[in-house]
Amino acid sequence: MLEIKNLCVSAGDQPILRGIDLSLPAGEVHAIMGPNGSGKSTLSGVLAGREGYTIDAGSITYDGEDLIEMPVEERAHRGLFLAFQYPVEIPGVTNLHMLRTAVNAVREAREEAPLNAAEFLKLAKQHAGALKMKEEFLYRAVNEGFSGGEKKRNEVLQLLLLQPRLCILDETDSGLDVDALKTLAENIHQCRAPDRGMLVVTHYQRLLNHLVPDRVHILAAGKLIRSGDADLALEIENKGYGWLGVEDPEGAEAGARA
Ligand code: ADP
Ligand code: MG
Repeated sequence: MLEIKNLCVSAGDQPILRGIDLSLPAGEVHAIMGPNGSGKSTLSGVLAGREGYTIDAGSITYDGEDLIEMPVEERAHRGLFLAFQYPVEIPGVTNLHMLRTAVNAVREAREEAPLNAAEFLKLAKQHAGALKMKEEFLYRAVNEGFSGGEKKRNEVLQLLLLQPRLCILDETDSGLDVDALKTLAENIHQCRAPDRGMLVVTHYQRLLNHLVPDRVHILAAGKLIRSGDADLALEIENKGYGWLGVEDPEGAEAGARA
């Protein structure tokens, strides 16, 4: 589904990703872990088509097509979704309106009929209910004044409504209390499907307890330095990153706590 080869990316004159190779087959969940500043959000952003990065080398193919050449809205139409590490606030735009516009834009691209306001409201309420999210959040401006955890919950609401094929979750579990983490993790787990791939950036084993990953990759200083099965995440939880030869294990541990 997703094939990344020798991906080298810089921002300004600063090289960030330094030769990433990663293959994500449909149906699998891959976790990406690594110290702060190692390039996890950069990788997520590049996949989603975020501006401000230069691709210096390498290729990304999504369903066999060149993703780098694909405009950002086409990526969304084709089912690519990124849950932001830092969701943005959009004052003046109600959450419900933004969500329905997004869902109908994707439906239109797939030549499906748009959902009318009543149909969409029913669906949104159903998913908000599953996420234990109060309905009032549907009527508030997108993320405006939401707590950190409420923003993360709102990202997962987008995920449930959009039903993407390639889900990239950038620290969706950060800043959540134990109950919220459990609720979100269960809902994310239910999105596992044979035709769906997930890249899950996380610092914690907690999410991976619910969402047992098929592969775990460790990113450090812009390179994937180790890949393994779900046990690798447990090892990181117990031992930190120092044993992998990460240059600044102290910083890495501080990062994992942040
Ligand atoms: P992570 O998500 O793993 O914590 P990031 O991908 O956010 O790491 O950042 C990786 C590194 O690249 C950091 O050192 C960060 O400061 C740097 N970086 C990210 N974006 C830019 C940018 N636009 N300009 C300069 N440096 C950047
Ligand atoms: Mg990040």
